[in-house]
Amino acid sequence: MNRSADVSGIGMTSQRTRERLVQRLQEQGVSNIAVLDAMRNVPRHLFLDEAMAHRAYEDTALPIGYQQTLSQPYIVARMTELLITGRDLGKVLEIGSGSGYQSAVLAGIVGEVFALERIKPLLMAARKRMRQLKLRNVQMRHGDGYEGWESQAPFDGILAAAAPEQVPQSLLAQLAVGGRLVMPVGGREQTLVVVERTDSGFERYDIEPVRFVPLLPGLGNG
Ligand code: SAH
Repeated sequence: MNRSADVSGIGMTSQRTRERLVQRLQEQGVSNIAVLDAMRNVPRHLFLDEAMAHRAYEDTALPIGYQQTLSQPYIVARMTELLITGRDLGKVLEIGSGSGYQSAVLAGIVGEVFALERIKPLLMAARKRMRQLKLRNVQMRHGDGYEGWESQAPFDGILAAAAPEQVPQSLLAQLAVGGRLVMPVGGREQTLVVVERTDSGFERYDIEPVRFVPLLPGLGNG
Protein backbone atom coordinates (compact mmCIF):
# COMPACT_ATOMS: atom_id res chain seq x y z
CA MET A 1 0.00 0.00 0.00
CA ASN A 2 1.45 3.40 -0.84
CA ARG A 3 1.70 6.16 1.66
CA SER A 4 -1.13 8.44 0.50
CA ALA A 5 -3.61 5.54 0.30
CA ASP A 6 -2.58 4.65 3.81
CA VAL A 7 -3.26 8.14 5.14
CA SER A 8 -6.65 8.46 3.42
CA GLY A 9 -7.49 5.01 4.78
CA ILE A 10 -6.96 6.29 8.30
CA GLY A 11 -9.08 9.36 7.46
CA MET A 12 -12.00 7.22 6.32
CA THR A 13 -11.78 4.99 9.34
CA SER A 14 -11.74 7.91 11.73
CA GLN A 15 -14.78 9.45 10.03
CA ARG A 16 -16.78 6.25 10.44
CA THR A 17 -15.53 5.89 13.99
CA ARG A 18 -16.62 9.45 14.78
CA GLU A 19 -20.07 8.63 13.43
CA ARG A 20 -20.26 5.79 15.96
CA LEU A 21 -19.02 8.14 18.68
CA VAL A 22 -21.85 10.55 17.86
CA GLN A 23 -24.38 7.69 18.04
CA ARG A 24 -23.05 6.75 21.47
CA LEU A 25 -23.31 10.36 22.66
CA GLN A 26 -26.95 10.44 21.53
CA GLU A 27 -27.62 7.23 23.46
CA GLN A 28 -26.09 8.91 26.51
CA GLY A 29 -28.58 11.78 26.17
CA VAL A 30 -26.67 14.45 24.22
CA SER A 31 -29.25 15.94 21.85
CA ASN A 32 -28.06 19.38 20.76
CA ILE A 33 -27.53 19.23 16.99
CA ALA A 34 -24.78 21.87 16.90
CA VAL A 35 -22.84 19.98 19.57
CA LEU A 36 -23.24 16.61 17.83
CA ASP A 37 -22.14 18.16 14.51
CA ALA A 38 -19.06 19.67 16.12
CA MET A 39 -18.16 16.33 17.71
CA ARG A 40 -18.60 14.68 14.31
CA ASN A 41 -16.33 17.22 12.60
CA VAL A 42 -13.38 17.55 14.97
CA PRO A 43 -10.74 14.84 14.38
CA ARG A 44 -9.97 13.86 17.99
CA HIS A 45 -7.00 11.71 16.96
CA LEU A 46 -5.07 14.87 15.96
CA PHE A 47 -5.10 16.01 19.59
CA LEU A 48 -3.15 13.01 20.85
CA ASP A 49 0.41 11.75 20.50
CA GLU A 50 0.79 9.14 17.78
CA ALA A 51 1.16 6.34 20.31
CA MET A 52 -2.24 7.18 21.80
CA ALA A 53 -4.08 8.18 18.59
CA HIS A 54 -5.58 4.72 17.93
CA ARG A 55 -7.63 5.13 21.14
CA ALA A 56 -8.96 8.58 20.18
CA TYR A 57 -12.57 7.51 19.66
CA GLU A 58 -12.99 5.50 22.84
CA ASP A 59 -15.23 7.31 25.28
CA THR A 60 -12.50 7.78 27.87
CA ALA A 61 -10.12 10.46 29.07
CA LEU A 62 -6.62 9.96 27.61
CA PRO A 63 -3.16 11.17 28.72
CA ILE A 64 -1.65 14.22 26.96
CA GLY A 65 1.53 14.45 29.09
CA TYR A 66 2.42 16.69 32.05
CA GLN A 67 0.00 14.60 34.18
CA GLN A 68 -2.96 16.07 32.26
CA THR A 69 -5.71 14.40 30.27
CA LEU A 70 -7.79 15.00 27.18
CA SER A 71 -11.35 14.95 28.52
CA GLN A 72 -13.75 12.10 27.77
CA PRO A 73 -15.91 12.87 24.68
CA TYR A 74 -19.14 12.52 26.68
CA ILE A 75 -18.04 15.18 29.17
CA VAL A 76 -16.87 17.55 26.40
CA ALA A 77 -20.26 17.20 24.67
CA ARG A 78 -22.23 17.49 27.91
CA MET A 79 -20.39 20.61 29.10
CA THR A 80 -20.69 22.27 25.69
CA GLU A 81 -24.41 21.54 25.65
CA LEU A 82 -24.82 23.00 29.14
CA LEU A 83 -22.85 26.07 28.10
CA ILE A 84 -24.82 26.95 24.98
CA THR A 85 -28.34 25.69 25.80
CA GLY A 86 -29.70 26.73 22.45
CA ARG A 87 -28.34 30.29 22.58
CA ASP A 88 -25.99 31.97 20.12
CA LEU A 89 -22.85 32.72 22.07
CA GLY A 90 -20.42 35.46 21.08
CA LYS A 91 -17.38 35.33 23.33
CA VAL A 92 -16.43 32.26 25.35
CA LEU A 93 -13.60 31.91 27.86
CA GLU A 94 -12.12 28.43 28.14
CA ILE A 95 -9.91 27.56 31.10
CA GLY A 96 -7.43 24.70 30.87
CA SER A 97 -7.44 24.16 27.11
CA GLY A 98 -4.87 21.31 27.33
CA SER A 99 -4.73 19.58 23.95
CA GLY A 100 -7.13 22.13 22.41
CA TYR A 101 -9.82 19.53 21.65
CA GLN A 102 -12.56 21.33 23.58
CA SER A 103 -11.42 24.62 22.01
CA ALA A 104 -11.86 23.14 18.52
CA VAL A 105 -15.34 21.85 19.39
CA LEU A 106 -16.31 25.30 20.71
CA ALA A 107 -14.82 27.06 17.67
CA GLY A 108 -17.41 25.44 15.42
CA ILE A 109 -20.29 26.62 17.58
CA VAL A 110 -19.56 30.01 19.16
CA GLY A 111 -18.30 33.34 17.84
CA GLU A 112 -14.89 33.61 19.50
CA VAL A 113 -12.96 31.38 21.89
CA PHE A 114 -10.41 32.79 24.35
CA ALA A 115 -8.47 29.91 25.90
CA LEU A 116 -6.09 29.91 28.86
CA GLU A 117 -3.58 27.16 29.66
CA ARG A 118 -0.94 27.19 32.41
CA ILE A 119 1.44 24.58 30.89
CA LYS A 120 3.36 26.22 28.07
CA PRO A 121 4.29 23.16 25.94
CA LEU A 122 0.62 22.08 25.92
CA LEU A 123 -0.37 25.60 24.88
CA MET A 124 2.16 25.65 22.02
CA ALA A 125 1.00 22.26 20.70
CA ALA A 126 -2.66 23.29 20.91
CA ARG A 127 -1.96 26.54 19.04
CA LYS A 128 -0.30 24.57 16.26
CA ARG A 129 -3.38 22.35 15.97
CA MET A 130 -5.66 25.41 15.71
CA ARG A 131 -3.49 26.64 12.81
CA GLN A 132 -3.51 23.21 11.11
CA LEU A 133 -7.30 23.03 11.35
CA LYS A 134 -7.60 26.70 10.26
CA LEU A 135 -9.63 27.62 13.33
CA ARG A 136 -9.09 31.37 13.25
CA ASN A 137 -11.63 32.27 15.93
CA VAL A 138 -9.57 30.76 18.76
CA GLN A 139 -7.04 32.82 20.71
CA MET A 140 -4.83 30.97 23.17
CA ARG A 141 -2.78 32.46 25.95
CA HIS A 142 -0.34 31.18 28.58
CA GLY A 143 -2.29 32.34 31.61
CA ASP A 144 -3.78 31.48 34.97
CA GLY A 145 -7.43 30.49 34.87
CA TYR A 146 -8.01 31.89 38.35
CA GLU A 147 -7.47 35.35 36.86
CA GLY A 148 -9.56 34.88 33.74
CA TRP A 149 -8.98 37.20 30.76
CA GLU A 150 -9.96 40.62 32.00
CA SER A 151 -9.31 42.62 28.80
CA GLN A 152 -11.77 40.46 26.81
CA ALA A 153 -14.53 40.34 29.46
CA PRO A 154 -17.49 40.10 29.72
CA PHE A 155 -17.99 36.58 28.33
CA ASP A 156 -21.27 34.97 27.26
CA GLY A 157 -19.90 31.67 28.45
CA ILE A 158 -17.05 30.41 30.64
CA LEU A 159 -16.04 26.74 30.60
CA ALA A 160 -13.31 25.10 32.68
CA ALA A 161 -11.82 21.60 32.41
CA ALA A 162 -10.05 21.66 35.79
CA ALA A 163 -11.64 21.85 39.23
CA PRO A 164 -11.15 24.63 41.80
CA GLU A 165 -12.37 24.07 45.40
CA GLN A 166 -14.88 26.86 44.88
CA VAL A 167 -16.09 28.89 41.91
CA PRO A 168 -13.56 31.77 41.67
CA GLN A 169 -15.15 35.19 42.22
CA SER A 170 -12.83 36.64 39.58
CA LEU A 171 -14.52 34.48 36.94
CA LEU A 172 -18.05 35.33 38.05
CA ALA A 173 -17.07 39.00 37.65
CA GLN A 174 -16.14 38.34 34.00
CA LEU A 175 -19.47 36.71 33.14
CA ALA A 176 -21.97 38.79 31.12
CA VAL A 177 -25.55 39.17 32.38
CA GLY A 178 -27.43 36.26 30.81
CA GLY A 179 -24.15 34.33 30.53
CA ARG A 180 -23.35 30.87 31.89
CA LEU A 181 -20.34 29.36 33.57
CA VAL A 182 -19.81 25.58 33.49
CA MET A 183 -17.07 23.98 35.60
CA PRO A 184 -16.23 21.10 37.91
CA VAL A 185 -16.00 22.21 41.55
CA GLY A 186 -14.54 20.35 44.54
CA GLY A 187 -11.56 18.35 45.73
CA ARG A 188 -11.71 14.54 45.93
CA GLU A 189 -15.45 14.70 45.30
CA GLN A 190 -16.36 17.01 42.45
CA THR A 191 -19.65 18.21 41.02
CA LEU A 192 -20.27 19.71 37.61
CA VAL A 193 -21.70 23.15 38.35
CA VAL A 194 -23.56 25.67 36.19
CA VAL A 195 -23.78 29.29 37.32
CA GLU A 196 -26.07 31.67 35.49
CA ARG A 197 -25.73 35.43 35.82
CA THR A 198 -29.11 37.13 35.98
CA ASP A 199 -30.09 40.81 36.31
CA SER A 200 -30.23 40.40 40.05
CA GLY A 201 -27.28 38.08 40.79
CA PHE A 202 -26.11 34.48 40.29
CA GLU A 203 -28.01 31.20 40.23
CA ARG A 204 -26.16 27.93 40.80
CA TYR A 205 -27.21 24.48 39.62
CA ASP A 206 -25.39 21.27 40.58
CA ILE A 207 -25.55 18.86 37.63
CA GLU A 208 -23.73 15.56 38.27
CA PRO A 209 -20.65 14.05 39.93
CA VAL A 210 -17.50 14.32 37.78
CA ARG A 211 -13.74 13.75 38.04
CA PHE A 212 -11.28 16.33 36.67
CA VAL A 213 -7.69 17.34 37.34
CA PRO A 214 -7.40 20.21 39.86
CA LEU A 215 -7.29 23.85 38.78
CA LEU A 216 -3.79 24.69 39.99
CA PRO A 217 -2.71 28.19 41.01
CA GLY A 218 -0.24 30.19 38.91
CA LEU A 219 1.68 29.27 35.78
CA GLY A 220 3.47 25.95 35.22
CA ASN A 221 6.37 25.45 32.87
CA GLY A 222 5.60 21.86 32.03
N1 SAH B 1 -10.20 20.15 27.53
C1 SAH B 1 -8.81 19.79 27.69
C2 SAH B 1 -8.61 19.32 29.12
C3 SAH B 1 -7.21 19.37 29.59
S1 SAH B 1 -7.02 18.89 31.31
C4 SAH B 1 -8.51 18.72 26.69
O1 SAH B 1 -9.46 18.06 26.29
O2 SAH B 1 -7.35 18.52 26.31
C5 SAH B 1 -7.14 20.45 32.12
C6 SAH B 1 -6.09 21.47 31.79
O3 SAH B 1 -6.21 22.54 32.73
C7 SAH B 1 -4.64 20.99 31.88
O4 SAH B 1 -4.01 21.16 30.65
C8 SAH B 1 -4.03 21.91 32.96
O5 SAH B 1 -2.69 22.27 32.69
C9 SAH B 1 -4.95 23.11 32.90
N2 SAH B 1 -4.96 23.96 34.10
C10 SAH B 1 -4.96 23.60 35.41
N3 SAH B 1 -4.98 24.68 36.21
C11 SAH B 1 -5.00 25.77 35.39
C12 SAH B 1 -5.01 27.18 35.60
N4 SAH B 1 -5.00 27.72 36.83
N5 SAH B 1 -5.01 28.00 34.52
C13 SAH B 1 -5.00 27.50 33.27
N6 SAH B 1 -4.98 26.18 33.00
C14 SAH B 1 -4.98 25.32 34.04
